[in-house]
Amino acid sequence: MAAVKTKLGRIPCDCCGHPVVLKENEAGTLTVSCDECDVSAFAKKGTAAATKWRAKLPAQAPESVPKAPAPAPAAPAPVEQPKAPKKPATPFDPLGFLNKGKAA
Ligand SMILES: [Zn+2]
Repeated sequence: MAAVKTKLGRIPCDCCGHPVVLKENEAGTLTVSCDECDVSAFAKKGTAAATKWRAKLPAQAPESVPKAPAPAPAAPAPVEQPKAPKKPATPFDPLGFLNKGKAA
C-alpha cells in the first residue's frame, strides 16, 4: 500500500523561497519538494528541521489537524450503556468502508 501523505500547507522553499507544499506521512516525517529549484528534503518527526518547517506554516489551521478529543471519563464506560442504533454497513457507504480499512 502506498504511503498516505497529508498536505499541511505551503511554506517557502529553504533553497529559493518558492512556495512548496509541506507534506507529512504516516510516520510524522515532513517532506517538501520544490518545483523551482528541484530541491527535495525531509525532516523526521521531532527534529529541529521539522519544528522549523512547522513554524513556517500559515497560522490558519490546516485541514489535517485532528479535532480536540472530548474529555475522557475517568472510568471506562459500562458495558450495559444503551447503544446507539447501528447503521448497517453497505457497499454504498464509502465512509464506513474507509473506517473499516483504518481499523487494522
Ligand atoms: Zn526551491
